[in-house]
Amino acid sequence: MSVFIRNFAIIAHVDHGKSTLADRLLELTGVVKAGGHEEQMLDRNPISRERGITIKLAPVRMRFEVGDEKIDNEVRNKNNSISHFDHPVSHLTNHTSTNYILNLIDTPGHVDFSYEVDRTLACVEGVVLLVDATQGIQAQTISNAYKAIEKNLVIIPVINKIDLPNAEVEKTRKQLSDFLGILEEEVFLISAKTGLGVQELLEEIIKKILSPRLPRSLSLPRNDSLLHALIFDSYYDTHRGVISFVRIFEGEAKKGQKVKLAAGNVYFEIQEVGYFLPDLMVNSSLKTNEIGYIVTNLKDIHEVQIGDSIVLEKDPSKPLSGYKVVKPMVFASFFTTDTKDYLNLKKALEKLYLNDSSLSFSAIHSKALGAGFRVGFLGLLHADVVRERLEREFNLDLVLTPPQVEFKKENNMFYEPQIKILIVTPQSYVGAVMTLCENYRAKFVTMDNKSQVSMTYEMPMSEMISGFHDNLKTVTSGYASFDWEFLRYEKVEADQLIVMLNGDEVAEFSEVVVRNRAMERGRILCQKLHGIIPRQQFDVKIQAKFKGKIIASERLAPFRKNVLVKSGKVLGAGDVGRKKKLLERQKEGKKKMKMIGKVEIPKEAFLKLF
Ligand code: GDP
Ligand code: MG
Repeated sequence: MSVFIRNFAIIAHVDHGKSTLADRLLELTGVVKAGGHEEQMLDRNPISRERGITIKLAPVRMRFEVGDEKIDNEVRNKNNSISHFDHPVSHLTNHTSTNYILNLIDTPGHVDFSYEVDRTLACVEGVVLLVDATQGIQAQTISNAYKAIEKNLVIIPVINKIDLPNAEVEKTRKQLSDFLGILEEEVFLISAKTGLGVQELLEEIIKKILSPRLPRSLSLPRNDSLLHALIFDSYYDTHRGVISFVRIFEGEAKKGQKVKLAAGNVYFEIQEVGYFLPDLMVNSSLKTNEIGYIVTNLKDIHEVQIGDSIVLEKDPSKPLSGYKVVKPMVFASFFTTDTKDYLNLKKALEKLYLNDSSLSFSAIHSKALGAGFRVGFLGLLHADVVRERLEREFNLDLVLTPPQVEFKKENNMFYEPQIKILIVTPQSYVGAVMTLCENYRAKFVTMDNKSQVSMTYEMPMSEMISGFHDNLKTVTSGYASFDWEFLRYEKVEADQLIVMLNGDEVAEFSEVVVRNRAMERGRILCQKLHGIIPRQQFDVKIQAKFKGKIIASERLAPFRKNVLVKSGKVLGAGDVGRKKKLLERQKEGKKKMKMIGKVEIPKEAFLKLF
């Protein structure tokens, strides 16, 4: 009996049905029973589940048996037989069938998590490209397909949701065959929901996606001095330290091996290895071309960079090319509404940080809001997911400053992160999209005019995070989709926009802005503050300063609130008790006020502003 490996991923635009298809594949291969599990079972994170988005990739190992008559001999000859698996399926004595090990990685579909797709694709030989029949090709369909094409992966084009009454199967099929340059007959039609066509798709995966080739070192006499395990994800386990998800490209990983991280210069002894079923299933070793996990016992997930490799301790090899460190792109400051909760926030962030290698945070102090943290994220959704987890899982009440992009400053010059965005829209909205992009300081790059128009632009990331996605949805009635990726830092004319109250800087409202946004931003901030700061007993000047010049200002007229006057009548001498109470209440209220210089701002004002 021979066993073959197929390593593949499902890629698609968000919501096109990846996790649902994964469910059906798990059922078909007997990993789980139909009806005996939750829907989209690879979406383990509760927030993933509730929002219907996958935020982490999820690997799973399946076994599948195919009768010989189903597999072309030609295909079989191309495959390399791998006969050294640890648990051969003993009930399979039938010589006319072939046993397959299928390693599937379900990828997240949201734009902020595209690096998860990149590293998934580095571990597989082929992909299922899934397109929703009611939506057609969308931005992430295109960008993910390009990633697969670049890596020379086998692509199986599949149209999903054909059970829906509004499915436009023929139109979508034409789109896909145009886009990939293939025959329309090559496109698979399925319903991940009902399971229609999924068995055939599974057989196609086995036929089309080739078994990974054995590396040269293994065709030579057995070489025990090599190990190359590419890390595509990690998580932190309180008892066992960092557990890394790996694809073995060369050699064998076993418990007790002394290994190191190729780029990280970190040494450790492998504690355990195994597969994903999708829960961890211990095994005696992981061999060439297998996908599984390695328990490292390392205590800091940030030591273990995604994309790094685990190699033998004595191996002199350098990290492989293509290795990229993910850096947070968007920053926000987090404060607790109750200052007593500061330590809880710290503990909660530390806990999330343990498990999220793209999260960063450092302590800050605000005159107005007290002690807090500056937290770095991949993008807006990532920030939102973290906030939600802090509030829900850790029961914290938070004040957040609006997420901002971090400018680099070198020799007094500012550098702004630029991104490339891809927009897919129906023809009729092209004009509206172009106008929108111009308003967002975007530079046109290319346009591809098919039934759906895809346009690429270069744009400052700071623009993208100021409501670009929402506005794109608005001007296209929800029909356009977009995807983005980081390009480079670009020199820009920018500086700190300083907000002042009677001459005192309010650090919480100050930010770096580019010159041609300074005026607009300054004016908006001054007006907003004017609307939310209560009148004081003196004049308050609200000003915005940019490059040493006042560019916007507002004046808040004084107002003396006398609590002893009630409905026009001054309380008389007989009301001593009430007077005292009112004055006390006023004092209480003042305690909640935050002083900026001499100006008092209620905390609610900050809440309103953010
Ligand atoms: P993902 O974001 O690509 O992982 O998409 P999901 O698997 O989470 O599916 C998104 C939504 O589409 C869910 O509500 C699914 O129930 C639904 N869905 C997925 N496949 C089908 C299908 O074939 N037919 C129908 N009618 N709904 C589907
Ligand atoms: Mg999903």
